Amino acid sequence: MPEGHPERPDRLRAVERALEAEAFAALIRLEAPQATLEQVALCHPPAHIRKLLDAAPEEGLVALDPDTVMSPGTVEAALRGVGGAILAVDEVMTGRARNAFSAMRPPGHHAEREKAMGFCFFNQAAIAARHAQQAHGARRVAIVDWDVHHGNGTQDIFWNDASVLYASIHEMPLYPGTGAPSERGTQDTIVNVALGAGDGSDAFREAFDLAVLPRVDAFRPDLIVISAGFDAHWRDPLADINLREADFAWATSKLMEIADRRCGGRIVSVLEGGYDLQALTLSTAAHVGALMGS
Ligand SMILES: [Zn+2]
Repeated sequence: MPEGHPERPDRLRAVERALEAEAFAALIRLEAPQATLEQVALCHPPAHIRKLLDAAPEEGLVALDPDTVMSPGTVEAALRGVGGAILAVDEVMTGRARNAFSAMRPPGHHAEREKAMGFCFFNQAAIAARHAQQAHGARRVAIVDWDVHHGNGTQDIFWNDASVLYASIHEMPLYPGTGAPSERGTQDTIVNVALGAGDGSDAFREAFDLAVLPRVDAFRPDLIVISAGFDAHWRDPLADINLREADFAWATSKLMEIADRRCGGRIVSVLEGGYDLQALTLSTAAHVGALMGS
């Protein structure tokens, strides 16, 4: 991304800073491989993938839209983002790990079937869900998205799909403009919960408790995928929700309770947004700490 863009390499350094702490020494750390084009094609048509790969510059930058810019490293980063999510699914579905966090950028939840947008190229959370179904026999997968922006891409991919529940809690009105509670999908498996600018921990926890958790539980998922954006933190410059890192730990624990009851604890969490570096460090530590059961 160009100089000054919020979706920048320092974001991953902020995540690494969190996970360097002694409390995370017990984590199993794996390098994210590049996904194959067949794996990306689980959620994106091959012609669209080819167009994106062809658009990547050999030097300099190419803007797909004012927010979404490709550099010579973008394709490898995006493919490793998908590969990390897939590897996380493999580890969790085979029982080698109880849960996993894929600390990769760029994010993915704005990427629609045939459109890269909003800093996103390939929708790794969606591909993770599909991979769990196709490679590991998961029947139902629930994707819970607490990034402060609505995941229009994930909604687009699963709009007609009864086998994937997509539940998002996000600020409205805000980019990308979708995510009204009336948007429920043709199979009633899309759940949109809108918060307003200025809302904080209480409003978030009440809405998550009342409108998100019961739907995830009733869906009886074989795997829960989290689109873990941390841009609803009060420090984040891109939105106006005022969560603290403890709220992400709380939400993680609530989903772990459902996962323990429904699917042997299986959770795959994928990093989405989060643009204040200090908030990203603190929130990652809270989220991954909760996943480790501490
Ligand atoms: Zn976001």
